[in-house]
Amino acid sequence: MRMPKPIRGLDELNVGTIFCIGRNYAKHAKELNNAVPDEPVVFLKPESAIAYDKSAIVLPQRSKEIHHEVELVIAIGRQGKNIPPAQALQYIAGYGIGIDVTARDIQQKAKDNAHPWSVAKGFDTFAPISTFVTANRVQDPQDLELKLTVNDEVRQHGFTKDMLFPVADLISYLSGIFTLQPGDLIFTGTPEGVSPIADGDHIKAELADPEITLEVKARNEA
Ligand code: MG
Repeated sequence: MRMPKPIRGLDELNVGTIFCIGRNYAKHAKELNNAVPDEPVVFLKPESAIAYDKSAIVLPQRSKEIHHEVELVIAIGRQGKNIPPAQALQYIAGYGIGIDVTARDIQQKAKDNAHPWSVAKGFDTFAPISTFVTANRVQDPQDLELKLTVNDEVRQHGFTKDMLFPVADLISYLSGIFTLQPGDLIFTGTPEGVSPIADGDHIKAELADPEITLEVKARNEA
């Protein structure tokens, strides 16, 4: 039997579809030599990629270059289709922080061959998420500060005001394609500063206010 994966902090919500947005911050698009997109870049992760606070990111042997990408994560609370941007925030159940873990070498090869990113983005534990706070704790999702440290060294520090497509537009856009369901997650893209992680690294992702943290340890696949 398939065991549901709870979204911690949000009563009775389990993880549904995991939507992710690529290249949603101009400086990050630039650091990977990507053009700034004119509509959201969307990909999915499998539910098996979910990991929780205080657990491990398992580094697969298939990759020699695995990167952290700290991201604001939205949990959807209501079913919706074709949601106008002006109503989109009403569909949010809560906010968390997550890491879009990426096997950069596998992704680069996929990009070179115009292949999908499912493998590069989809290994077990490649979607660690924090405990969430309910939506009423966030006045404005475009006024949040994100930080990621590796062994206490700051690697990423960004602000959601710099998103190319704000949260309301992302929900509206996705809902024009997919019926959104309670428990669906949206990883909203990463600011600049992505870098490799290695066995034994202690990785901490933080949202400033409301304060949310996610701590994971990287370890090599056995
Ligand atoms: Mg990302």
